[in-house]
Amino acid sequence: MSTEFFHPEEGLSREEIASLQTQRLRETLERAKHSPFYSERLQGIDPESLNSPEDIRHLPLTSKEDLRAFYPWGFLTEPVENMVRLHASSGTTGSPIAILYTRQDLANWAELVARCMNMVGVRSGDIFQNLSGYGLFTGGLGIHYGAERLGCLTIPAGAGNSKRQIKLLQDFRVSVVHIIPSYAMHLSTVIRETGMDPADLPLRIALIGAEPHTEEIRQRIEEMYKVSAYNSYGLSEMNGPGVAFECPEQKGMHLWEDSYIMEILDPRTLEPVEEGEYGELVMTTLNREGMPLIRYRTKDLTRLVPGACPCGRTHRRIERIAGRTDDMIILKGVNIYPMQVEKILMGIPEVGQNYQIVLERSGYIDHMRVRVEIKDEYFVEDMRVLKGLEQKIARSLREELLVSPRVELVEHRSLPRNEGKAERVVDMRQSEN
Ligand code: AMP
Ligand code: ZN
Repeated sequence: MSTEFFHPEEGLSREEIASLQTQRLRETLERAKHSPFYSERLQGIDPESLNSPEDIRHLPLTSKEDLRAFYPWGFLTEPVENMVRLHASSGTTGSPIAILYTRQDLANWAELVARCMNMVGVRSGDIFQNLSGYGLFTGGLGIHYGAERLGCLTIPAGAGNSKRQIKLLQDFRVSVVHIIPSYAMHLSTVIRETGMDPADLPLRIALIGAEPHTEEIRQRIEEMYKVSAYNSYGLSEMNGPGVAFECPEQKGMHLWEDSYIMEILDPRTLEPVEEGEYGELVMTTLNREGMPLIRYRTKDLTRLVPGACPCGRTHRRIERIAGRTDDMIILKGVNIYPMQVEKILMGIPEVGQNYQIVLERSGYIDHMRVRVEIKDEYFVEDMRVLKGLEQKIARSLREELLVSPRVELVEHRSLPRNEGKAERVVDMRQSEN
């Protein structure tokens, strides 16, 4: 497959990246000082005193709480009249945050998304269906304008309504989709119910992302649909999708360092982790006009993939997101991430497309119950067979997690699923007290 660069920036030398970052960081600081939040926060900091991207460590961090406290206009560097778009984070807890974009910001963002799509072999002749929610979520319009920029015939299908999605996929012989992984799993079931095999669709590429998922889920999607699936990472605060994306090597996501400075910090000490260690991804925007963010704490956990990528791109790669600092479950003193559970479940052939982790409390003791959908062909009447399977799953989970969750097998399609990002964990611990 041709993986020619969409922009020459993709192949800059490391020295060139460092000097571009330094220059853009200085410009960003100058600009940021026009916003109410940073005019205060950056007082006394001279942008010219920063001589390398590493000097960013001397600057203060920015958190989601800051965004909330200065909602809705407190981060704008220009009058709101110069803004042409607003998006919001999908977070369900707490008060909202809003991200605003100038016309130039939107153009830069579309370039980045087009670059990502080009990298995995999407071309202007492709017919592209975007199955993610339009509206405040950036996965709709963000990907949409990138696909149009690349020259794809772009179908803004939006989320949900699986029957109509399938009809569009068939009628227009769609070759590329953007789809949330949990929805890709669900859609495969609906496709089968219509008597079709997902592999019969003429799809060749799936862009999957927006929510944490394991390598096992990627492989299932690739096998079911007979596509190559590429991980797409982004967050509203950094524009949305287009921040980091897998290349054809599928070994980590190139994070575009001409547009962002990345740091990986120990979330407790806020010091950089050793190279290759897991930590919290912290990012600074380098070409955002309307609402630059400096050292923004994403709460996403990842690590650097060591070494150069054979694809020739020089921008460093991050590993798939292992979890968020705020979705770690502490059970009986053991730290557990939902993705550890997913990894085990999706490696078991009898397990179907969906699962749910329920946290419960009886007395002072917390328990974890894992509800697991079982493929139809295995959901037999014979209790002994089901019990055996339940025990097998419980054993595998215990080996990985070091605690013993209760396992509950449920029928295919019986677990709730919403159209957006999957909610894997239901915490009942407070409500039972
Ligand atoms: P939002 O800004 O509402 O779209 O949410 C952004 C968050 O979604 C990120 O901070 C991550 O926690 C999560 N996310 C986005 N893309 C991915 C991905 N490819 N893998 C794992 N998590 C992701
Ligand atoms: Zn690469």
